[in-house]
Amino acid sequence: MSEQGMSEPRIAIVTGAARGIGAATAIRLAEDGHAVAVLDLNGDQCAATVDTIVAQGGRAFAVAADVSDEASVAAAFETIIAGLGEPTILVNNAGILRDNLLFKMTTSDWDAVLGVHLRGAFLMSRSAQRYMRNAGFGRIVNLSSISALGNRGQANYAAAKAGMQGFTKTLAIELGQFGVTANAIAPGFIQTDMTAATAERLHIPFDEFIAGAAAEIPVGRVGQPADIANLASFLVSEGAGFVSGQVIYVAGGPTD
Ligand code: NAP
Repeated sequence: MSEQGMSEPRIAIVTGAARGIGAATAIRLAEDGHAVAVLDLNGDQCAATVDTIVAQGGRAFAVAADVSDEASVAAAFETIIAGLGEPTILVNNAGILRDNLLFKMTTSDWDAVLGVHLRGAFLMSRSAQRYMRNAGFGRIVNLSSISALGNRGQANYAAAKAGMQGFTKTLAIELGQFGVTANAIAPGFIQTDMTAATAERLHIPFDEFIAGAAAEIPVGRVGQPADIANLASFLVSEGAGFVSGQVIYVAGGPTD
């Protein structure tokens, strides 16, 4: 258990945990002593995250699931409960981009992004709340974004990430009486495959893209997945029980 992670060991699910922010968060929660279901579209791609956790003496379990698919989510919960037990921590992190200006955005670009982020968080949270209520304890952390404030080329993503904030606040209101908190983390620029893909789409070398972003950020650097994992670690801890329904921007400076 890391020094900051003074939590009772729980069973956690982190979606989109094969890489990026999800992988860092899964590894961090395992360091805090939690058993972690490392969920992603492709189970094989979860191996690196699972191996890292196991090598550090933690408990982890790869689960292949599509969070936007109801049957897949139901099957994932059966697998997780059989393999690890009933989950009381859920980090809804899985995400995709289908960026385009509105006039070029296809209906499938819209549906895919809303499907993974919003429908995915809904399906996962609806399944998880039952076990959290049984336990009288639960922690839900949803990944929003500074794009929720509006971002050119991201009408679908901005809508999903703004929706995630309303969803989070509503979960906090409905589930608080059962010992369940819900909070949203809204990252700024985090160096992952997702931001690398954006640089590629814009035909800007990733190094230059990072340097340009860092120049605009008060702390003078872009974020790393660990910057998000650190906050997730706190939000799922026992000590965060009075923090609920919040949207916390993690962007190296103020956002408005
Ligand atoms: P990433 O590196 O692209 O990782 C996202 C992961 O989610 C991938 O492993 C992906 O699997 C998985 N995934 C996609 N669709 C899925 C589905 N339907 N079911 C299960 N897993 C699925 O992204 P990231 O940068 O770490 O971002 C993680 C989260 O933070 C996302 O919600 C993102 O919107 C949010 N965020 C990121 C940033 C940033 O700057 N990076 C900023 C703000 C918010 P595949 O590889 O198989 O597609």
